[in-house]
Amino acid sequence: MSQPVNPADADLDYLRKHVLALQNVLIRKGLLTYAEVLQEVHRLEAVDHDAGARVVARAWSDPAFKQRLLANGKSALEELGIEPGSYERLEVLENTDRVHHVVVCTTCSCVPSPLTGTTPDWYKGAAYRSRVMQEPRAVLREFGLELPEDVEVRVIDTDVNRRCLVLPLKPPGAGGLTEDQLAQLVTRDSLFGVGQPAGPVGA
Ligand code: FE
Repeated sequence: MSQPVNPADADLDYLRKHVLALQNVLIRKGLLTYAEVLQEVHRLEAVDHDAGARVVARAWSDPAFKQRLLANGKSALEELGIEPGSYERLEVLENTDRVHHVVVCTTCSCVPSPLTGTTPDWYKGAAYRSRVMQEPRAVLREFGLELPEDVEVRVIDTDVNRRCLVLPLKPPGAGGLTEDQLAQLVTRDSLFGVGQPAGPVGA
């Protein structure tokens, strides 16, 4: 049986073991509760891809910006005042009705972190890294994403110098929204290609 992509008990690396040990001490001393830890994790995960969401919302709103973004990701970020980070190239992968991109780093866990925020555990895990190249549709299904058979799934293996960001499809019904409203629809998963943006409320 293949390994799930979201293993809560994935092999813990050295740093994670230390963080968990510290967390346990603080909880035992009554300085914080596990619920507070979870609440903070969820808060960070919900908001820290804001910069990536802004980039996507601008690309959805401004076709000229989108072209510049696709041509040279890092210089387009500068237009929005976003510091891209210390890697050579940002490649933005545009999803269309025919092609859906998924990002993985098979060697480690490279991401454009100023855009995507805290790197999700599943992205760092061996299960995702080993399986998504071989059986992308099965992996996407585990994330709850079922793509039509006529959509080509392209899995892009990123690396330390070439970081990748998915430009997801603009959701149907989002035509009249402002850029800020559009940014609210952009989920972290959609920036990796393992999910889609949220649909606008009422659409
Ligand atoms: Fe990597």
